[in-house]
Amino acid sequence: MAKHKITALYADENGEIFDAPGIGGMGRIGNDLRLLTPEDLIPLPDTADLMFLPDRQAVGMTKDGEVLSLVGQPVSAILPAGYTRTLMPAFHSDEDASQLPLYGYTAVVVYKDQLHAAAIYTDENHKWDPEHYNTKNLKKLVKQVKKDLPNNPLVDHLANCSLEWHCCTAENIFYRRWECGIPTSPVCNANCFGCISLQPAECCPSPQSRIKFRPTPEQIAEIGVYHLETAPEAIISFGQGCEGEPSLAADNISAGIRIIREKTKKGQININTNAGYTEGIKKIVDAGLDTMRVSIISAIPESYKAYYRGSYELENVKESISYALEHGIYVSLNMLYFPGFNDRVEEVKAWKEFLHELPIQMIQVRNLNIDPDAFIKIMPAQQGEYIGTRNFLAKLHKEFPKLVIGSFSHFTVE
Ligand code: SF4
Ligand code: SF4
Repeated sequence: MAKHKITALYADENGEIFDAPGIGGMGRIGNDLRLLTPEDLIPLPDTADLMFLPDRQAVGMTKDGEVLSLVGQPVSAILPAGYTRTLMPAFHSDEDASQLPLYGYTAVVVYKDQLHAAAIYTDENHKWDPEHYNTKNLKKLVKQVKKDLPNNPLVDHLANCSLEWHCCTAENIFYRRWECGIPTSPVCNANCFGCISLQPAECCPSPQSRIKFRPTPEQIAEIGVYHLETAPEAIISFGQGCEGEPSLAADNISAGIRIIREKTKKGQININTNAGYTEGIKKIVDAGLDTMRVSIISAIPESYKAYYRGSYELENVKESISYALEHGIYVSLNMLYFPGFNDRVEEVKAWKEFLHELPIQMIQVRNLNIDPDAFIKIMPAQQGEYIGTRNFLAKLHKEFPKLVIGSFSHFTVE
């Protein structure tokens, strides 16, 4: 009997996947490779995809504890929303390996004759289930909304996002339900290493559809009222996947919110933001914002800056959050998560200080879509040990029992 029951995988050049009997499946945290244990694993979710990593060799561990390069490419799982990866795939790179495209590569192995991934389930939200989107009647629904709201270029933009790029938050305006994105800003004040505006973000596969015009307050308000008035659990969200930073469009957004709130008190108005432009955030909060989700990778200024490379500082982000909290806004963090980075001892200490200073309501944990080697290279060197994802989340939970930890924005108003 093989000693290792968790078996490594590899793929040949035709993309056929094989297991490597007797070779233990490994994963990667930060820069370290280690053998996987049953506690690391969950059955691979049905809607996960498998990807191969070119210019790299899969590795596994022999029974003697030797790390062995396998003659084949590494296989990785790309998890659906709601799952947080705890280990990345283990591999050795060729010297001239090309940089990997921006995906959340997750370790995948065979365990109990089934594919398993190194991940935990962090949130449940049926609303993002693909079965709710791209249905046969979508074209018809688009036609109807175009008829209801003629001459609004935002509607045309969202129609294109829906029919061409299958963006879920764009589609929701036509399905008349839940969270609907209203893109407003073609520009950004950051230059993130893994800019979600330039990669497939969540359910939005379309870097090309980044908005190119600046919608007026009236155009914003027309869609906002239309959606908030009638849609169940209606949310309108500024700052979705492939636009720039919405607070740079603060004048138009705040004027739009004021018009909306003169006409309807229903539903929830949300912004997804890097929160670096505090003056803009203040205007939007003052106009009647309900919820704010702040993208963040670290509570240490140097680590933050290394990734966001913005024209602002972490201090500005904190000032924006503080202002929002003082004004009764529900604030969540969109924590970009990389196993072996956010859970380093020094990062954990900084997170705790941050959360004591700014008692936000929720953390949404998001797998950082990035080439692991390229990420490690640009970030400040590790100082302390990492404590592991489960441990990290458990520590936050213990120290901040009221803090909600999940993966999605939930309907929080009314
Ligand atoms: S804040 Fe968003 S849009 Fe701006 S660079 Fe970062 S990921 Fe891209
Ligand atoms: S995220 Fe992109 S595709 Fe979706 S609505 Fe916004 S601009 Fe359109």
